[in-house]
Amino acid sequence: MMRIGIGYDVHPLVEGRPLMLGGVSIPHSKGLKGHSDADALLHAISDALLGALALGDLGRHFPDTDPKYRGIASLKLLEAVYEKVRERGFAVVNVDSVVIAEEPKLSPHLAEMAKNVADALHLSLDCVSIKATREEGLGFTGRKEGIAAKAVALLEKKG
Ligand code: MG
Repeated sequence: MMRIGIGYDVHPLVEGRPLMLGGVSIPHSKGLKGHSDADALLHAISDALLGALALGDLGRHFPDTDPKYRGIASLKLLEAVYEKVRERGFAVVNVDSVVIAEEPKLSPHLAEMAKNVADALHLSLDCVSIKATREEGLGFTGRKEGIAAKAVALLEKKG
């Protein structure tokens, strides 16, 4: 049995925060605001995995009202989501994703992000796709007010 899921996340860009995407700290004048490290890409991927299992979203499992999750590395959350996938007898087949950010340039960091995701999901690198795009000055990402990410994940029941 195969299951597919979709994830979408947005965080505002603010001064005085590190910019974390795909578990990589990216040098930039601003970072993403959120309760955790606000890694929009890992949140979108986590939501795609949870969505494939019809388990709701990340906020349901790790509420941002819980002080336990303040500042938590989203790679830890992704690993915890992977455990839910594994516990239910599924393996991840592949993940595709896109980060929508006007700046900074993300291409130098995509390989490291993919490695982090592949490690967390026990996947080989050729099963993890992370892309980056700009919205050409349009909308909130184009105005550099925030960064968005979208992801899809395919799961397969083992055995
Ligand atoms: Mg989020």
